[in-house]
Amino acid sequence: MLRHVSEHSPLEACGLLAGKNARVEKVIFVRNQIQSPTRFVMDPYEQLRAFEWIESHALELIGIFHSHPAGPETTSATDVAEAAYEVVHIIWSPANGQWQARGFWLENGQVSEVPLLVLDP
Ligand SMILES: [Zn+2]
Repeated sequence: MLRHVSEHSPLEACGLLAGKNARVEKVIFVRNQIQSPTRFVMDPYEQLRAFEWIESHALELIGIFHSHPAGPETTSATDVAEAAYEVVHIIWSPANGQWQARGFWLENGQVSEVPLLVLDP
């Protein structure tokens, strides 16, 4: 994810996290259809392919990630308004020149931060 968001900066990059029991087993990159530095819309064809891959590997969608190359470090009002899945939303943003990831749970318009644990860097 770090390399992906870094390579696509200053455009927002995005993708899906597949796994089980809140443990990520596969990161699937999805093209940002609108190629914008301040918004992302997942390419619907790639997103569909990703969902099919996840299902065929008996995994679940457990997270969505995207980057905010120009900040903020947290989910934006647009992210909250457009959140379509009850999964962890990971936001990558550069803080003091270093990309960092923070996780958020979005439900009914409420945002709460969740801890992320890197098991295999
Ligand atoms: Zn966002």
